[in-house]
Amino acid sequence: MDRATPTAEFALIERIRARAGKRDDVLLGIGDDAAILRPPAGMELAISCDTLVAGRHFPDDTAPADIGWKALAVNLSDLAAMGAQPAWATLALTLPEPDSDWLDGFLDGFCELAEAHGVALVGGDTTRGPLSVTLTVHGLLPAGTALRRDGAGVNEDIWVTGTVGDAAGGLRQWQGGGLQSAKLRYRLDRPTPRVDIGLALRDLASAAIDLSDGLAADLGHVLARSGVGAQLDLGRLPTSRTLAEHFPDDATRWALQLAGGDDYELCFTAPAAQALAIERALASCEVGATVVGRITRDAGLELLQPDGERFELARAGYDQFAAMLP
Ligand code: ADP
Ligand code: MG
Repeated sequence: MDRATPTAEFALIERIRARAGKRDDVLLGIGDDAAILRPPAGMELAISCDTLVAGRHFPDDTAPADIGWKALAVNLSDLAAMGAQPAWATLALTLPEPDSDWLDGFLDGFCELAEAHGVALVGGDTTRGPLSVTLTVHGLLPAGTALRRDGAGVNEDIWVTGTVGDAAGGLRQWQGGGLQSAKLRYRLDRPTPRVDIGLALRDLASAAIDLSDGLAADLGHVLARSGVGAQLDLGRLPTSRTLAEHFPDDATRWALQLAGGDDYELCFTAPAAQALAIERALASCEVGATVVGRITRDAGLELLQPDGERFELARAGYDQFAAMLP
């Protein structure tokens, strides 16, 4: 908060501190000038930061608990894509006013997911301004095992976890103001970071990325960093029954799945010889994964319809600066 209202700021921080979560490797958490953490010997740190701005990264009518969940989920998704085990988080919270009811709701969603992944909140900052949430997460990796974007090799399989397009379908329905599927909206508000899958893929995948901006754009980052191209078979895109029911037109649905964003599934590559090992490793995970295409020598992303025709995508992915939300 501004300097004039220190008690309001401290009261909010106290509410956060009471629910911050504990870990043995947190030597000093919320309450001092900095947190002191003890990473285990031989481990590397994976660090990622994401901001959520009201009206841009979530609809204005999103419940505080959903905002708290999603702020952590999108960050844990980045750690998942690196194959890292989540450990600590810091939270920079900007609130229009010191609203303890809003904060309690936010913490309900945040803490539910933090506890599920053993994440301790070890510090942050609280200020007054337009609602925005910036979270930094820290994860642990055995040295040299990170899943990077630059490891995809020619002829390898391209895999996608879970189903894609559901969150984008939920957003499209919300924007249209008509019939809305609660299931699709849930995928938008409560994405599941695929942490268990990221850990399982450490020794199996050659490259990985999480799907925040849409499969076409995010896979594009892997292709660019790896210096390769890809073919995607649109008929193999993993599709929920709900999405297929609400968006029966192929071209509309493919556009949501390729360019919609907010899936927070993982896209990864691996040599075809690893396929069985991958299916086995993922058998105990919350969702499985599907092969959707292959890496090619020639640059560019080719989208193939089931009849073999090429599909042209109007928009490659979620652009932060093109207003997706009204
Ligand atoms: P400083 O003036 O040193 O920045 P603050 O008054 O901002 O200290 O914060 C006091 C303590 O509360 C610090 O340990 C800080 O990390 C923690 N803190 C402040 N805001 C948050 C927040 N939104 N989430 C978690 N910890 C917070
Ligand atoms: Mg501060």
